[in-house]
Amino acid sequence: TDIAPSLLPRPRRLLLLLNPFGGRGLALQWCQTHVLPMITEADISFNLIQTERPNHARELVKGINVAEWDGIVAVSGDGLLYEVLNGLMERPDWKQAIKIPVGILPSGSGNALAGAINCNAGLEQVLGLELLLNCALLLCHAAVTPLDLVAVTTASGARCFSCLSVAWGFISDVDIESEKYRHMGAARFTLGTLVRLASMHTYRGRLSYLPAADATAHRPISRSITVAPNGRLPLQRLPLHRALSDMGLCEERHAFWGAEPAPVPCPSPGSPPPSSASILPPPSFSFEPGPGELPAGGAGEARVGGPPDELLVPLGQPVPGSWVTVEDDFVLVLAIYQSHLGADLFAAPFARFDDGLIHLCFIKAGISRAALVRLFLAMEKGSHFEQECPHLVHVPVRAFRLEPLTRKGILTVDGERVEYGPIQGQVHRGLARLITG
Ligand code: ADP
Ligand code: MG
Repeated sequence: TDIAPSLLPRPRRLLLLLNPFGGRGLALQWCQTHVLPMITEADISFNLIQTERPNHARELVKGINVAEWDGIVAVSGDGLLYEVLNGLMERPDWKQAIKIPVGILPSGSGNALAGAINCNAGLEQVLGLELLLNCALLLCHAAVTPLDLVAVTTASGARCFSCLSVAWGFISDVDIESEKYRHMGAARFTLGTLVRLASMHTYRGRLSYLPAADATAHRPISRSITVAPNGRLPLQRLPLHRALSDMGLCEERHAFWGAEPAPVPCPSPGSPPPSSASILPPPSFSFEPGPGELPAGGAGEARVGGPPDELLVPLGQPVPGSWVTVEDDFVLVLAIYQSHLGADLFAAPFARFDDGLIHLCFIKAGISRAALVRLFLAMEKGSHFEQECPHLVHVPVRAFRLEPLTRKGILTVDGERVEYGPIQGQVHRGLARLITG
């Protein structure tokens, strides 16, 4: 008897969305020469669409018939995948639409999610074309993992869905200022870091969070680390180290960056709330929402689709009593939910795609430039928490609110700049699905 054609496995159909201007603009070339032959070989059928402008991908996925596709893949940096996820969440049928597997073929300058996928697969940390090839191979394997999304609300009441991080201070400054070195690819962050280190800023702010009761803050685990003959970690391979070395700063970096100040003790993340939000001074930041921009029923109410943020109250109201609030001067605040901040920045080694956690990491003012450089150098290997730097704090949380008290600064969501002012977010566990291979 004949087998009905509908019972035969059909080739997977992927919608590839390619940003021709991501990173160094090599996406199309690399895709044609390396990726398309590989996925054709794997019997995957695809449509390749080049984006023509920002938000093009977002509009495209709002209009597609999701039943026609087995996955949507961003051939780009993290920015285009952000558009895809938000486009899906803006659909009336977001509940089904967001379940379509999404993937990434890294060819931008910010490839954090690809770095996390590569690491999750147990592959050695690589950059550029090597990372693209690894991810293309994993894409052919087709395994899918639930992916946490964080609903982020900004002062105007706008809500978006983030899959990587919210950053303020050093990291967002580097990310945005280094846009002008885009032609350098990933090296733009190295140069940006150097420029920023030369004028390290601190930012005053109020950081509130709902601790994840069942998760523990990262405790350094003793791991065998090969120490160079000079007693320091072998850093020669690291890009930042290389750049410092080229500038003649490396050997004498302690002398150059100045002596270490006495460590400032900081409260352990598990300690009881230092104060309730109600006795703190009112925010000096004004954020009058425009007409129609705030939801009728508070931040907990879903606006343009998506699940309600039941852990959040509107930004104008004090955080719930179960939250912890810290008011301090920060070098950086980073709410990160994936292991990588860039393809070679293993910022949160403990993070998992679907752990349901926001890993709130912050560095307090008072850290020396030398110590900051050491943290960033160690981040390539993910060993920065092992340095037990008293200025670096990690707290696993379910929700957070950041209220900048310094008037000027840069906030980013998944590496893209957003309006500056109070911002808050809560995690929605496993809301999306990621092709991890
Ligand atoms: P990179 O990692 O280099 O920043 P991304 O893929 O993150 O690369 O893209 C950066 C930004 O480019 C995204 O915010 C996206 O909206 C925008 N973009 C997408 N397509 C285009 C296009 N055709 N022209 C200009 N910008 C685009
Ligand atoms: Mg980007």
